[in-house]
Amino acid sequence: MNNHVTVLEIDGDALLHNLNYFKEKLQPETKILAVVKAFGYGSDAIQIAKFLEDKVSYFAVAFVHEGIALREAGIESPILVLHPHAQNLQSVVDYRLEPSLYNFKIFNAFLKLADEIPLMNYPVHIKFNTGLNRLGFWHTGIPNIIASLKEATHVKVASLFSHLAASEDLEEQEFTINQINNFAYIAQQFYKHLGYEPMLHILNTSGVINYPKAQFDMVRIGIGLYGFGNDDKETAQLKNTHNLKSLISQIHIIEPGETVGYNRAYTAKRQSKTATIPIGHADGLSRRLGNKKGYVLINNQKAPIIGNVCMDMIMVDITKIDCSEGDEVIIFNNQEMIQHIADVSETIPYETLTAISQRVNKTLKS
Ligand SMILES: *Cc1c(COP(=O)(O)O)cnc(C)c1O
Repeated sequence: MNNHVTVLEIDGDALLHNLNYFKEKLQPETKILAVVKAFGYGSDAIQIAKFLEDKVSYFAVAFVHEGIALREAGIESPILVLHPHAQNLQSVVDYRLEPSLYNFKIFNAFLKLADEIPLMNYPVHIKFNTGLNRLGFWHTGIPNIIASLKEATHVKVASLFSHLAASEDLEEQEFTINQINNFAYIAQQFYKHLGYEPMLHILNTSGVINYPKAQFDMVRIGIGLYGFGNDDKETAQLKNTHNLKSLISQIHIIEPGETVGYNRAYTAKRQSKTATIPIGHADGLSRRLGNKKGYVLINNQKAPIIGNVCMDMIMVDITKIDCSEGDEVIIFNNQEMIQHIADVSETIPYETLTAISQRVNKTLKS
């Protein structure tokens, strides 16, 4: 059990608000797949999946063991594993996970396994590369894929999908539309020759925002569920789901000339009051936030991080803040604070959220 006082509170009401925000952009029949990879973007995939299970059609995780964790927690919905490996295919089947088959190595390995067991109409998803050049078959593979699938009674293609490279960037509109058109062409080939019509999906969060016409049968929403859109305007329509809180472990009064923390990185210019807070870089708080680049909120006032971020702690300047040991500390509780941390850390909210480590206590509240 994790009883740590540093807690990531997952706001269930905000999650629902965000889900409904995207639902309104979609046709009523379009399915929603909630992406809960990387521990639900740094939160808790199990709690998120339990909360969303009756509200979405599918879940997706990146790796097989993430899917196993959801099944072991009792999640019954279909789970798409975006990035399985040949070594783990028996577990895919054991836990009724649905593999993305993205190259001939894994495609052939899964068809072979499906024959041997044998499986019957086991749902698989075929991933196509339309320009991201990350995972997926090239369109040149289509004839071989279809030829193999026509003989395979042990698997059934649940969906064909692809992933956009720059759906958030309107300057890349031409490239994105080309990806969408290539995907539609691939789908057409399958529909013509396969004998049945798998679901189609290509849009992630920013795809839904910028290219809603390409929603096909399903959309895959990750970051949007957790409160971030393409830009500040879109993000303002969403609610923040990740609230990171801690408390003051200890307060010190230090005299001018005294230093704080490792490498004596901070020197007090006047008599100061500091607070030590039990969260550090091992919890996902970047070391780049040290030396007053980052701050926390205590009593609604900004307390800058002084000196270096330690593994398990930070020290903040509370000289002008009226507070006591044990008082609540907000690391972030809105998107602006998360964006600020991301900016200072020279990264994006995706990384700031997913960096929150497993040591932090995670609880969903609604
Ligand atoms: C992570 C991921 C998503 C979700 O993307 P967001 O931008 O977070 O909505 C969708 N599809 C694939 C293939 C992914 O890897």
